[in-house]
Amino acid sequence: MVQTLGEGEGRVMTAQEIDRIECAIRHIQSSLDVDPWARDIAVDAMKKQMPKKVRITTSTKRCSVCGRQLSGIGNIHPERNYCQRCGQAIDWGSE
Ligand SMILES: [Zn+2]
Repeated sequence: MVQTLGEGEGRVMTAQEIDRIECAIRHIQSSLDVDPWARDIAVDAMKKQMPKKVRITTSTKRCSVCGRQLSGIGNIHPERNYCQRCGQAIDWGSE
């Protein structure tokens, strides 16, 4: 089952965990006895668990899914692992 991570929980997902989620997504997408709407919700929730790189604009760093501003351009907030609007896991990258 998909693990739930509390807001502000200061831990980064391992590559192995990401692999497991990708595997679970493939399973669900290929399973024909799941209602399509339930499949979409499950896949969407699991994808949000996988960190996505921030979208960098000229002056801000934003959530690449919903566009919410996460930080100014020079700042990294590693304690903020999730977008507060959509719940997407954030990868701040290394700069
Ligand atoms: Zn977002």
